[in-house]
Amino acid sequence: MSDLLRKVREAAKNCGCGHHHDISIELIDTEPGALGRAATYSKSKKWQTVGIVSDEVIYNLFGERLRKKLHEAGIQTELCKVRSDEQGDVVADEQAIVQVMVDIPITVDAYVVLGSGTLHDIVRFVSSRVGKPFVSVPTAPSVDGFTSAGAPIILRGFKQTIYTGAPVALFADPDIYGKAPQTMVAAGFGDMIGKHTSLFDWKFSHAVGGEAYCPATAALTRETLQWCEDAQESISAGSEEGVKRLMEALLLSGLAMLLFGASHPASGAEHHLSHDWEMELLRRKSKQLLHGAKVGVACAIIAEKYSEWRPDVELTGVPGLVEALDALPSSDSLRARLRDVGGPTTAAELGIEKELVKASLLRAHTHRVGRNTLLKRHNEGHS
Ligand SMILES: [Zn+2]
Ligand SMILES: [Zn+2]
Repeated sequence: MSDLLRKVREAAKNCGCGHHHDISIELIDTEPGALGRAATYSKSKKWQTVGIVSDEVIYNLFGERLRKKLHEAGIQTELCKVRSDEQGDVVADEQAIVQVMVDIPITVDAYVVLGSGTLHDIVRFVSSRVGKPFVSVPTAPSVDGFTSAGAPIILRGFKQTIYTGAPVALFADPDIYGKAPQTMVAAGFGDMIGKHTSLFDWKFSHAVGGEAYCPATAALTRETLQWCEDAQESISAGSEEGVKRLMEALLLSGLAMLLFGASHPASGAEHHLSHDWEMELLRRKSKQLLHGAKVGVACAIIAEKYSEWRPDVELTGVPGLVEALDALPSSDSLRARLRDVGGPTTAAELGIEKELVKASLLRAHTHRVGRNTLLKRHNEGHS
């Protein structure tokens, strides 16, 4: 068992909140050579045929290496290179889901996803619906969803998170994800920075909206955030050690979501804002932006708004909430951290205009019904 799995299981042991879910992942390997061990693992499961799901760009970089390892282990492969849309983006939507189901016969024993977050969302959904396990081979430390079970899928242009399943094993090879461009590293850092506001929103929604809460999961998520901030210098330098730390933090954040069984620890108003922008860009047929790049910027915007909305928090009268709000880093400091790792820091830098930011702040809370964030409270009043 990897240290990450041990860590999340130990955290679970010491918490009696009653909201824990089984961690079904058998193995997490983040050491050099992990790619080859994805094949030996598949062999140990006695799989005869696996379906590799990737996209054109990633497959050209690493796909043949993976396929060769699997063949050497005596495993047959089927292949699906998920096609991009007219804007050149791979999108986790109906078309991608159907393409995987058409290209890969459902008689395969398992799927292996080689790629970043979006490809994982597609495979996570297909694998759970077909009832076959999947193995994760992440190729960039860009997002924290690899180990979680929620699949954000775009259906008829609307993003919804569907609870599906986690991978049965994950092989993150530093020889692969360590080669990811700094923009993707910065996006992963942005997704982690977002935990500042998501953790506040979780506390808020628990106190004010009565939503379930797990102190161990919250503490674990905060610890992963701390790992990243402590390693900021090496992450911004793109050093091997920094990028590995970031990848492990992202994986652990995903495991925390898996333990709690929902995305509360890692996704608050900053994610709802990011989802709003994503849907708007799809509607406009504009090029998509990296998830973590949007989340980092959205987090700085939300932090700024939340400090302005301090009176809403005071009005709740809930002990500890104002202190939690005051403990949020300022938007300037969040932007400085994002700038340091080479990510965008403002909506303008993302190419998102002021009007969209304004509109999204008024409606983003409606994309996640039942999440009682401060954004929702502020927009809908106190009744
Ligand atoms: Zn995220
Ligand atoms: Zn708990």
